[in-house]
Amino acid sequence: MPTSVVTGGAGFLGSHLCDRLLAAGHRVICVDNLDTGTLENIEHIRQPEFAFLQHDMIQHVTIDEPVDYVFHLASPASPIDYLRLPLHTLKVGSYGTHNALGLAKRHRARFLLASTSEVYGDPQQHPQSESYWGHVNPIGPRGVYDEAKRYAEALTMAYHRQQGVDTHIVRIFNTYGPRMRPHDGRAIPTFVRQALEDKPLTVFGQGQQTRSFCFVSDLIEGFIRLIDSEIHTPVNIGNPGEFTILELAEVILRLTGSRSSIVYEALPQDDPTVRRPDIGLARSLLGWEPTIGLEEGLRLTLEGMGVEVAVA
Ligand code: NAD
Ligand code: UDP
Repeated sequence: MPTSVVTGGAGFLGSHLCDRLLAAGHRVICVDNLDTGTLENIEHIRQPEFAFLQHDMIQHVTIDEPVDYVFHLASPASPIDYLRLPLHTLKVGSYGTHNALGLAKRHRARFLLASTSEVYGDPQQHPQSESYWGHVNPIGPRGVYDEAKRYAEALTMAYHRQQGVDTHIVRIFNTYGPRMRPHDGRAIPTFVRQALEDKPLTVFGQGQQTRSFCFVSDLIEGFIRLIDSEIHTPVNIGNPGEFTILELAEVILRLTGSRSSIVYEALPQDDPTVRRPDIGLARSLLGWEPTIGLEEGLRLTLEGMGVEVAVA
């Protein structure tokens, strides 16, 4: 039975990854300090093959049993979380990634870094392919997250090139699904919560900025394919369907049958104006592409919350 360590395993993506690995017959050790994750996300897991270790990845971590895979997801991910925790975000991206890589090296385990489309910043190339170096403001408020992830990528490549660790880097584009925290501040859980409470949907700017939204099960499939591949350079995983934020708000209003209005609020500093992945690499090298479109994924998300979805 392979053993996987999932850092950040009590978070949104990490908990879905734990489910997927257990279903595939792995032993899973979930390492999390519960900063933005919750025990609720993993309380449904009852298997004896699952272990939870409450630990801050900024500190050295020791696992006294063989480890075959290290999935490193620990990091605040939502803008409101990393703006609230700027130093912690920089430390988990640097020291935390160093510790996770050290763990993989010691156990000769395959390693996957959860990087982000934020490494492209406010992109001047559209769609974004992996060869694009990005357009990041290092000293703006989002810089703590963007630069932490860029450093984490550099560190991961150095462990691969100098230390021979079997590393992989996934650049994740906006992903959603059940278990996102209603108050985590990201667009989809925020709009869903507001729509269900019949409160106005808070669209930032004019809502003309775009994002590409990937359903969680598609993303996790990409993780599994990538970590078992021989690709060591970054790979975009995301859904290339591109929507304005206003379009997103309107779809959520329709699916929830909500009578909420839309209010326009100030656009946060350095908010990327466009974002869409070029997934040519994932398609050709991993045979991966998303299978769930936005509307279907939103229906699955709402059903997962026990919400009846409007028919229209
Ligand atoms: P999340 O906030 O739900 O999960 C992050 C988890 O990491 C939480 O459980 C948190 O408690 C844990 N954590 C934070 N700091 C830690 C530390 N120092 N030690 C141990 N655990 C720590 O967010 P998510 O959406 O599940 O994101 C998971 C990863 O994927 C993050 O690395 C994020 O940067 C990356 N990512 C996510 C998205 C997305 O759309 N969801 C997009 C790009 C990148
Ligand atoms: N957004 C919005 N209203 C909200 C939350 C987010 O209009 O209540 C916008 C935000 O400005 C951004 C987009 O939705 O342009 C996606 O934001 P999110 O925080 O989900 O992800 P990220 O900015 O990291 O892509």
